[in-house]
Amino acid sequence: MRQIRQSAKLKGVRYDVRGPILVEAQRLEAEGQRVLKLNIGNPAPFGFEAPDAIVADMVHHLPDAQGYSDSQGIYSARTAVAQYYQGRGLRDTAVDDVFIGNGVSELISMVLQSFLDDGNEILVPAPDYPLWTGAVSLSGGTPVHYLCDEDNDWQPDLEDIESKITDATQAIVIINPNNPTGAVYSDELVRDLVQLARKHDLVIFSDEIYEKITFDGLEHHHTATFAGDDVLCLTFSGLSKAYRVCGYRAGWLMISGPKHLATDFLEGLTLLANMRMCANVPAQHAIQTALGGYQSINDLIVPGGRYYEQSMLAYRLLNEIPGVSCVRPQGALYCFPRLDPEVYAIEDDQDFVLGLLRAKHLLVTHGTGFNWPKPDHFRLVTLPDVEMLTEAIGRISDHLATLR
Ligand code: PLP
Repeated sequence: MRQIRQSAKLKGVRYDVRGPILVEAQRLEAEGQRVLKLNIGNPAPFGFEAPDAIVADMVHHLPDAQGYSDSQGIYSARTAVAQYYQGRGLRDTAVDDVFIGNGVSELISMVLQSFLDDGNEILVPAPDYPLWTGAVSLSGGTPVHYLCDEDNDWQPDLEDIESKITDATQAIVIINPNNPTGAVYSDELVRDLVQLARKHDLVIFSDEIYEKITFDGLEHHHTATFAGDDVLCLTFSGLSKAYRVCGYRAGWLMISGPKHLATDFLEGLTLLANMRMCANVPAQHAIQTALGGYQSINDLIVPGGRYYEQSMLAYRLLNEIPGVSCVRPQGALYCFPRLDPEVYAIEDDQDFVLGLLRAKHLLVTHGTGFNWPKPDHFRLVTLPDVEMLTEAIGRISDHLATLR
């Protein structure tokens, strides 16, 4: 038979969080080695459990969850999401403004497929969560990366953003709290980003999956609150991280702003939602329960809580390694440290990560995998408990000592 090749559409599409280095890790595992995998923000393998009420609710609804649901999502879940935003200052949010998806991942792809024409440009942060860049390319668009400034606590550089806007720019992606940097944006910054979108007539895609994971009492600000009724804003969030149920695949999209100007785009989105029938129905039942009642996430993000303590420990230990500097994470589940090029002559950060994996059986992700332009960063997932995290950073430190 002839060679079967992947579609040309995939040219340039990368997702290195689960890329070639993971394949090498799996090869080592197949040889019987134990690899500590800190490449993906998946809480469950590290002893985090879903709140009991969520599991109980899903089990309770299983018998009623056998058929397809409405393609936009079951009514109770969409109501719960709409009410959540109403309670957070977005009073006009309606049930019809909400789409439920198989995680934020699926909704990102669906939205971009419906939104983009070939050659359209989308502003995406650098570093980014690489699904955004990959999904823009796959949908025929051109990702244009704007700088998040490490010297300014990884805040987006407004001048850099503005300098990259062209006649082809259609939208801007904001990831707040940020993966991989851990930055949480102030209300002033979110307001400025929205103002920029308003000035240049851009749609905003606001990825807020880590909205409930902020440290030091920092408040998360929904972009949509500032976008008002004149900037179309698509807010993405879900249960994966705050409720520790990545595997359930439950996420949502909330649309706000001048929807009357977006009826055609929304018709396209509805078509795509219909074509994939519906999101996983049992997990949709978890949404209402998750958003109501006791919020156990609040215990994890304060001193004494695992998300907080592990983040701070990683930040502290990484900074103790000569030639390594790490901005203090303000939220999310990651550290994105810098390796001083004067100390570590790394030309290819994928090779560095591969070397670490082979020498120390520890899997992290190279910074260029997040579309960071230089080979001088890597991302560490801060989900292991303090003992395992200390051991992991010890292995990184030992490996780096051989490279100095
Ligand atoms: N957005 C960001 C910024 C993420 O970091 C992730 C997962 O790591 C996702 C979206 C995907 O979330 P979900 O599990 O809802 O698909």
